Amino acid sequence: MSNAFGVGKGMADFTFFTGGPAQTHGYWVRAAQGQFVVDAPEGMAQWLRGQGAKIEALLLTHQHFDHVGDAAEVAAEYGCPILGFAQHSKALTLELLYAASAGVELSIPAFQVSRLLKAGETLQLCGERLQCLHLPGHSPDSLAFHWAAREILFGGDVLFAGSVGRTDLPGGSMTQLLEGILRELRPLPEATRVLPGHGPQTTLKREWQVNPYLQESLPGLRSQA
Ligand SMILES: [Zn+2]
Repeated sequence: MSNAFGVGKGMADFTFFTGGPAQTHGYWVRAAQGQFVVDAPEGMAQWLRGQGAKIEALLLTHQHFDHVGDAAEVAAEYGCPILGFAQHSKALTLELLYAASAGVELSIPAFQVSRLLKAGETLQLCGERLQCLHLPGHSPDSLAFHWAAREILFGGDVLFAGSVGRTDLPGGSMTQLLEGILRELRPLPEATRVLPGHGPQTTLKREWQVNPYLQESLPGLRSQA
């Protein structure tokens, strides 16, 4: 499944693919000076091939298996680097845990993260600037990418429409997740559009107003809003 959508500001085009065992979104971005991808769920490589994509970089919001099923294939196909917060690790992909608990065979081709991103760093990519926000709590390596010029946040599994990422997996912490959301996302413009790893898009403004996890857990939010 894929969906095309334009961007309110600027000239970049976006399309996203949804696939893999958890209906994960992978975003294909055509910026003014090149193309990049955010996450690579299973099936994304074939889909990109069908689109005639020319990918210059693959950004990972985190390494959970459902976000990286096609990471190795995308990197090989385009000879492009993979950028993420941590080196590849099965402790981060959770593929063994998932396979055991779901009783299925799961083989995620190993990939190499060729550039490690630092918390807070501004990434220059295809003529664009994306700020890398470290938001652990769902996964220790969770990043969100803030594209200020386009008022977009690639949120991974940190913040969803009406929800937040699950924190019951290894390395998870609801306290850490909510603290990170307040610290890193609260200062961003409210009009920022959130493009999550699963489910519908939302905006920061909407989540500050209606997201029950944020309402319950971040005292003072309602009075600030
Ligand atoms: Zn995840």
